[in-house]
Amino acid sequence: MEDCIFCKIVKGEIPCFKVYEDDQVLAFMDINPISPGHTLIIPKNHAANLAEISDEDLAAVHRASKKVMVGIDKALKASGVACVQLNGRGVNQVVMHYHLHLIPKIPGGPDLPVSKWEIIPGDMDEIKTTAENISNALNNG
Ligand code: AMP
Ligand code: ZN
Repeated sequence: MEDCIFCKIVKGEIPCFKVYEDDQVLAFMDINPISPGHTLIIPKNHAANLAEISDEDLAAVHRASKKVMVGIDKALKASGVACVQLNGRGVNQVVMHYHLHLIPKIPGGPDLPVSKWEIIPGDMDEIKTTAENISNALNNG
């Protein structure tokens, strides 16, 4: 897609710090890292989000994420890696080209904002109703 910054990276029109590439996928460093080693994995074909990406590209991105995570672990001795993927402006997706964030937790470094939240028990009736709504939406196309 013409105006997409990640498509431009795929085409080599904008530079990146590449860590992995295959026929379907490119992985490169996030230039505003949440922690050292913060890496993005993208399909080479443009798709805005999880709803749009093809099953084949989705599988390829996640296969690659396994390889890259092992590399991050080896290189940085991370104590954990958060895989985060945002869909839509409401959850602060900024680049509208599907991307999976791999964000390592470095031992001794701060907690990751994306992997630590307060556990507050929910209302079981409300959870049940919401589950039914989602399930019905799935079953009724
Ligand atoms: P998101 O909120 O999931 O859409 O995140 C987009 C991510 O892309 C942010 O973490 C940005 O730092 C990152 N980003 C934007 N432009 C570039 C770029 N040219 N090279 C590497 N990372 C980028
Ligand atoms: Zn794109």
